Amino acid sequence: MSQLEARIARLRSRIQRACENCGRNPADVELLPVSKRQPPALVREAAALGFSRFGENYVQEGILKGQEAPGLEFVLIGPLQRNKARTALTHFQQIMTVDRPELATRLRALAQELDVVRGIWLQVDLWGEETKVGGADAGGLEAVFQALEGDPRLPVQGFMAIPPPEDPGSFHALARLRETWEQREGRRLRLSMGMSGDMEDAIRAGSDQVRIGTAFFGSR
Ligand SMILES: *Cc1c(COP(=O)(O)O)cnc(C)c1O
Repeated sequence: MSQLEARIARLRSRIQRACENCGRNPADVELLPVSKRQPPALVREAAALGFSRFGENYVQEGILKGQEAPGLEFVLIGPLQRNKARTALTHFQQIMTVDRPELATRLRALAQELDVVRGIWLQVDLWGEETKVGGADAGGLEAVFQALEGDPRLPVQGFMAIPPPEDPGSFHALARLRETWEQREGRRLRLSMGMSGDMEDAIRAGSDQVRIGTAFFGSR
């Protein structure tokens, strides 16, 4: 068994155990490998093990990796500047960091022009100054939804967040926020939260997708 296979096996059993502890089905928790600052060869190795979608933080790095590991999907999980929006929509299948109306409006215009459909996630930050990782607060989210106007080219998959570490309560706050918006929108919305160090708490609070870098690929 390769080191990568061993890490993935350990991760699977962590997810399994976390789900058993709260009565969830492990099949309902997606494992998104985060390949930032990892060599393309390792991404190809993961692809050979059945993974076809990877999270990347930087537009340029994601494009390069896509060239060196072709046939895979890349999801942008890092902050997006408006001047990179066109490149991001061209090369990434999903964008998980839509957090302001100006960006949403720009993405809509570009999606129309490029004639593409891209799943998007709204990045939430309920903690403000503490984290500075980007993301909309509750009022900001409202504005982003409005700017999107349910555009079918940019279907909203759900919410993504990087809560402050060591605060499991923040996962529950995100779960409540998701519930509120599910009621308003009248449909299911997914929640992407939990990383290598805190995925168990995130799963317990209802995460649908954990984004795993180091526990998947090893240290960066
Ligand atoms: C790097 C990163 C991850 C993965 O972090 P690990 O702690 O290595 O699992 C997940 N989400 C985002 C947004 C990241 O930037």
